[in-house]
Amino acid sequence: MPEFCDVALPVPLETVFTYRLGSATPVRGARVLVPFRTLRLAGVVTALHDRAPKVAAKNILSVLDDEPALDDGLMKLGEWISQYYLAPLGEVYRTMLPLAAEVRRARAYCITAAGQEALYRSAEGGSSLRSRRTPAEQMTEYSVLDYLNGRDGAREAGVRAATKASRRLLEGMVRKKWIAREDTAATRDARPQRRIALLREVTGKLNANQKVLVETLAASGGRLPVEVLSGLELPKSTLAGLVRRKLVEIVEEEAPFSISGMALRPEDFSLSAEQRAVLAHIDAAVASKKFSVSLIHGVTGSGKTAVYLAAMQAVLDAGRSAILLVPEIGLTPAAAARLQATFGEQAAILHSGLTAGERAGQWHRIRRGEARIVVGTRSAVFAPVANLALIVVDEEQDPSYKQEETPRYHGRDVAIMRAKHAGAAVVLGSATPALESFYNGQRGKYALLELRERVEQRPLPEVEVVDMRAEFRETGEDQLFSRKLVAEIRERLERGEQAMILLNRRGYSPVVLCRACGETVQCQNCAIALTHHKGRNRLLCHYCGYQQAVPETCPKCGSEYVQFLGTGSEKLEERIHGAFPQARVGRLDRDTVRARGDFERVLNALDAGELDLLVGTQMIAKGHDIHGVTLVGVVGADFALGFPDFRAAERTFQLLTQVAGRAGRGTMPGRVVLQTYYPEHYAIQFAARHDYAGFYEKELRYRKWMHYPPFTAVANLLIRSEKLEEALGYAGAIGRWFEKRRAPGLRVLGPSAAPLTRLKRDYRYHFVLKSESRERLNATLRALQQRLAEQKIPARNVVVDVDALSLL
Ligand code: ADP
Ligand code: ZN
Ligand code: ZN
Repeated sequence: MPEFCDVALPVPLETVFTYRLGSATPVRGARVLVPFRTLRLAGVVTALHDRAPKVAAKNILSVLDDEPALDDGLMKLGEWISQYYLAPLGEVYRTMLPLAAEVRRARAYCITAAGQEALYRSAEGGSSLRSRRTPAEQMTEYSVLDYLNGRDGAREAGVRAATKASRRLLEGMVRKKWIAREDTAATRDARPQRRIALLREVTGKLNANQKVLVETLAASGGRLPVEVLSGLELPKSTLAGLVRRKLVEIVEEEAPFSISGMALRPEDFSLSAEQRAVLAHIDAAVASKKFSVSLIHGVTGSGKTAVYLAAMQAVLDAGRSAILLVPEIGLTPAAAARLQATFGEQAAILHSGLTAGERAGQWHRIRRGEARIVVGTRSAVFAPVANLALIVVDEEQDPSYKQEETPRYHGRDVAIMRAKHAGAAVVLGSATPALESFYNGQRGKYALLELRERVEQRPLPEVEVVDMRAEFRETGEDQLFSRKLVAEIRERLERGEQAMILLNRRGYSPVVLCRACGETVQCQNCAIALTHHKGRNRLLCHYCGYQQAVPETCPKCGSEYVQFLGTGSEKLEERIHGAFPQARVGRLDRDTVRARGDFERVLNALDAGELDLLVGTQMIAKGHDIHGVTLVGVVGADFALGFPDFRAAERTFQLLTQVAGRAGRGTMPGRVVLQTYYPEHYAIQFAARHDYAGFYEKELRYRKWMHYPPFTAVANLLIRSEKLEEALGYAGAIGRWFEKRRAPGLRVLGPSAAPLTRLKRDYRYHFVLKSESRERLNATLRALQQRLAEQKIPARNVVVDVDALSLL
């Protein structure tokens, strides 16, 4: 019988922790609740053994799962993530298990040594609890210390009930370090419940209202959620009366996912020859039960989704499971409704609108095998399905697949590793595959499948590039819209067709400048210019959320000549209104899409023909299929070309291709007007010609020359601190370490100031590490982490981002 277990805890430390089992016997992969410093934490059991640790082991507090929460395959996947991305195993497992809702947090306090000393001092009648507090407050502080003394921590509610202390007073004592706060955890069942009315045998007389209710229930097979019945607008007493007479029974059930009525486009087509060929390849890959990766490179509107769904249906019919990953913005309620219609209750749909409790509920459904098709964003790759046959990653190039906090994993790459362990097939799909993925396709590592045509042989839109420098020379005016774009929009309005206009920058004016002294108004926490938001009448930082009133005079020199420069989507909308007053205009950006459903509402209005024009940021560029749009105008999408990031051209090419792909998806052909100040840039040229292969070739040559992915593995090592000297000190120390080490085959660039030199109060420096050998890169990073631990440099000050997508 093992006496101990090792537990991976969600703390930034590279080790597992040993606990004594006591009477509990968890299985490997189960969650347990354990004491850790002043906290109680839930962690995952990684091993059971009887090797006593050097220091006395504490007992585990309770076992949260009877069966493993993570099966062997997922445990192994977690270990891989931990190794590859250099992230603590416990933090990885926490990310893999969306069950936090089952562990409730409660504020609790305990007394510290300093608190005990203060208590004794005052009890001896000597110097009392000297402070700026009133005598009454001092008395309360004394009672708090007295109450906590000898207790092993107490919940806030208990402390306050016993001492009448306010939270403010308690927090004041925390600041004085007399007491410490700890967050305790207690488990609870967070599965969302839904009340269902069941119709029993009806005897006796019914009044008119009761009749309506009974008939409604009978018409739905005798069972309906209570919330649906409340929609009937009958008095509450009607249902209550029926329940009292036992004609209707109410039961509680775990709520499955449900979507309110979305209109679905009928899917009554048969797959094209190209689609069938791709599907046949995937079906064969799945049937072989061997690991494989296929990359579908399919132009916009080529019907990739129909192929995914057919492949997933085949998996379902074979009694196996499939996961579909979509980018953050891809899982609109419409997409979810379509999946629900295709797969019914067999599908679990993990979208961002779910509460933590709902997420946990879906997790359990998948775990029990009730849902064998899982659709969701990044973390759905960890769904606990059994008998995994297929993982599809839609829009595989989308940056939202990379998690921007520890563990900084990439959902696509984790999907591939999971499939490798499970002997499953992976399908990556995109109109603009990431360079790394297409490279793997070219080298035969992935099977490259092409969908060259749009469905029903619809043409790709014609793209016209407008050189805005020439436009200025010819008109003598610096206009937002070129003459060409204005003419095209006018034509659409006259013909009753629709247009979208992209400006990939939100707010009203991105720069607030003083004309007297030349200063721009900057964020207090970041080295970033604040953006003017006219509707809200505020200046906002788009990086940290800081906001302030719009200044009437310059904060630096006091002059009144404060100017708002440049254009964001908010101003674009205003200008469009001005230019086309008769048009109905909608806007999509992070300011108009704030609540669940906002995004969908605007797109539905466009689809229903209630809007003529839609303006917005990159949000308008992807994940939807609106047939009335025959014109896409790009007012600004090339700012990114100026970013000091080796992926800037690729990002721009992708965005332009995606947004152009929104035009002409219905029976009417589409057209794109692309305004730019860099018409000769290859990203723009190739996007205008729909030439992915051309872009790929050129970009690949540049990457090779510059030693960037896919020819090297890259990691970004970010040093950050609120104290400039500290950031510099750490960066210097790490730089010297690299110099001494001189790892062969590793290029170290830096330390240099990060392009965002200050962000969220932190000063930032970075190193970019490149190596043709991933093993070498990882070995160096691991050695560095060891070194940082020895030198006690806190984990928060050094961020290791393996396969970083952004070097800003
Ligand atoms: P993609 O993701 O490749 O841009 P979608 O999967 O969104 O394209 O498909 C575009 C549209 O074409 C959708 O409305 C879809 O229902 C429709 N579609 C898919 N396959 C066919 C087909 N074989 N014939 C007709 N329409 C199709
Ligand atoms: Zn000024
Ligand atoms: Zn800021």
